Amino acid sequence: MGKNKYYCKIDGVIHNLSDVQEVLDGKSERNIVLIMYEEHGMDIVSANTFESVLRFHNNEIPSDYNEALRRWQEYNQASLPKSPPKPRCPRCGSTDLKERQMYVGPESNLYVPYYTCQQCRKTWMKNMFKC
Ligand SMILES: [Zn+2]
Repeated sequence: MGKNKYYCKIDGVIHNLSDVQEVLDGKSERNIVLIMYEEHGMDIVSANTFESVLRFHNNEIPSDYNEALRRWQEYNQASLPKSPPKPRCPRCGSTDLKERQMYVGPESNLYVPYYTCQQCRKTWMKNMFKC
């Protein structure tokens, strides 16, 4: 595979990205975003996206950029809803929390879950901040 690994089809046009490949190979210190912007006619937002797609693609130039872009977008879409929103500290917004059980009395014999913020040490009942 890949003697011409720096040829990349973008929107149906084959681009010679040997300058990008040199950066990936460590032979050049240039900025990939700027290369795509200055040499290959991408706007700066697309050029930023291009670099993200490249990183997602194991730092290899895809032979079909639009295909790689679609896979990257699908990956981003899929990874979003999977992780439920983490509880946050109502005081400082940190997600670095410890969940504990608090014993609230012999009459009720009840344990109540509560959080302690590891950043600012605020403590609050878990069920008080549902929304
Ligand atoms: Zn906090």
